[in-house]
Amino acid sequence: MVSFACLICGGRDLALVLDRCRDFYLGLPVVVDYARCGTCGLTQQVPIPRSTEGFYLDYPMHVPKRRIFSLARNLLIRRVYFAPGSGDAGKTLLDFGCGDGSFLERVEGKVARRLGFEPSACQANAVSARLGIPVASDLADSTTVPDGSVDIVTSHFVLEHLTDLWGTFAYWHRILRPRGSLHLAVPNIDCFEARLFGRRWHGLDAPRHVSFPAGRSLEWLAAKSGFKVIRRGTGVFPNTWGASLVAAALGRHHQALFMLLMPLAFVLAFLMPHSTTVYELRKEA
Ligand SMILES: [Zn+2]
Repeated sequence: MVSFACLICGGRDLALVLDRCRDFYLGLPVVVDYARCGTCGLTQQVPIPRSTEGFYLDYPMHVPKRRIFSLARNLLIRRVYFAPGSGDAGKTLLDFGCGDGSFLERVEGKVARRLGFEPSACQANAVSARLGIPVASDLADSTTVPDGSVDIVTSHFVLEHLTDLWGTFAYWHRILRPRGSLHLAVPNIDCFEARLFGRRWHGLDAPRHVSFPAGRSLEWLAAKSGFKVIRRGTGVFPNTWGASLVAAALGRHHQALFMLLMPLAFVLAFLMPHSTTVYELRKEA
């Protein structure tokens, strides 16, 4: 069923903000529109796609990288990713939307137990086999990840890909222990970069980014799902500057030019660190 309702509040007061957005990153022949909800402020695709599976063919985030690439990526993203502290050494951490498993690899030895979640069963099995840890692929599976067994859930750049926000928050609430923490990183569609690059802003990443929960819409969703926002901040994330400059110049992605522009992107991202919003939430009731 095609839905023109807001993914979070169900409202139908949606105003078009960006139309005819094409895929500047992977070049898929798909064009989508984005609208903003007048009730909760969520920006989302209209209509919500029936399935997003076809958007991830050859998705680079799912392919294991060469070591040098992983090191570079870790350097770029470490300002927005959760960093376990000494108090987390005895805890269980689940990375939701674990992709190629690189974040889970990074936190090895820093937490007592690592778990993953990745919606593609094939991808989940591959990461599980590679890292030797349980990786679930189904929200209904309470065997791989038992209810109330997790202390920390991390989900970096995942929320914007999902079409079932309520179901995902319910899952996080179910698997977390009381007062467990949830760490999110989401592209900030209200930042200067997004306004500057418009359809070519890499944080938009049409058609893979379905919605941009932040501010009022995210806080509402969190509160109704039994979470309290503990901290909200912005993170330095040079990748969007780099890839947006490439898309603006060429109308498509070009990895070599992207790498060449990264020093400039670093400087710009430190001067204007608003392209990513990071949240820490706590499970309440
Ligand atoms: Zn809404």
